[in-house]
Amino acid sequence: MLDITTQLTTNPKQKPAPDELGFGHYFTDHMFILDYTEGIGWHDGRIVPYQPISLDPSAMIFHYGQSVFEGLKAYVTVDNEVLLFRPDQNFKRLNNSNDRLCIPKIDEEYALEALKQLVSIDREWVPNAPGTSLYIRPFIIATEANLGVHPSNRYQFIIIMSPSGSYYKEGINPVKIMVEQQFVRAVRGGTGAAKTGGNYASALKGQEIASKEGYAQTLWLDGKENCYVEEVGSMNIFFKIDGKVITPALNGSILPGITRDSMIQVLKSKNIPVEERRISIEEVVEAHNNGTLEEVFGTGTAAVISPVGELKYLNDKLIINKGEIGEVSQMLYDTLTGIQNGSIEDTFGWTIR
Ligand code: PMP
Repeated sequence: MLDITTQLTTNPKQKPAPDELGFGHYFTDHMFILDYTEGIGWHDGRIVPYQPISLDPSAMIFHYGQSVFEGLKAYVTVDNEVLLFRPDQNFKRLNNSNDRLCIPKIDEEYALEALKQLVSIDREWVPNAPGTSLYIRPFIIATEANLGVHPSNRYQFIIIMSPSGSYYKEGINPVKIMVEQQFVRAVRGGTGAAKTGGNYASALKGQEIASKEGYAQTLWLDGKENCYVEEVGSMNIFFKIDGKVITPALNGSILPGITRDSMIQVLKSKNIPVEERRISIEEVVEAHNNGTLEEVFGTGTAAVISPVGELKYLNDKLIINKGEIGEVSQMLYDTLTGIQNGSIEDTFGWTIR
């Protein structure tokens, strides 16, 4: 196991008040950095005061987008301990993204150990008001100073952490979603299953148009036939049709969400039928028209569950479950947040204290 050195800050920052947190505005006192040099491998793991990084203007990350990232959270439990939710899955997915972007793999156990040390050093930054959490952003960037188009021979793996506010301050409000017709997020054989910056940059345009029309997020259809549902904004999507829960199967262009996987396991444990398969937007519309579309919800680390109250497709506006949160969505939300705040026993072995 590689070593981790620690340099503590001599100048701790003022912590924001819980109601000022929002998302991604504030960062803790420390960060973790690990360097990669071709011929040496990953080296010099260190926890240092949170600070800017200095890169050559020709660093490859600025030009060809060779980068990957992750997003997970630490929570304060009802008995005032801190826990991480399935962090091993995030480092596993990071390595899958690395593979797609020709970035050398990291040692997942070492990364988890580094994260645990970082969280315990910045323990006081994990907010404990209901619904708040410490958002954790591990990422890797290509740092070689070179304009040639090839995989970089140097990288930095960095973990930063940001206390974040409650997603649902005013209770869970179902969102309005617009089915995107003009743009696609990913194509077969592309980078859709990897968590890499380019996927998010290319999604901005559709998101911008949806926002202007008053929709919270874009529902992405597949990039080949433009009729199968893929995912919604930065969440995976589920439909409850006639008692059965259906989510698009992982097909190489959808991001394999860790919340998605958790929801599938919870549904199975409660004997609620769940199917991972292709689902077309026409099937969703038809279910709505014949009255069997019972619930639609997105899943992701940020919101856990985001119920969809309205789906706009072409000129139709489908209202789902009278625009209210459904029974299964509520049960999944309560179960997952209960496991995350320690009020429900974690029979799945998902949490690390
Ligand atoms: N899809 C996309 C495109 C995302 O960015 C995310 C957020 N990571 C998800 C789905 C949900 O993944 P997770 O449940 O692991 O947060």
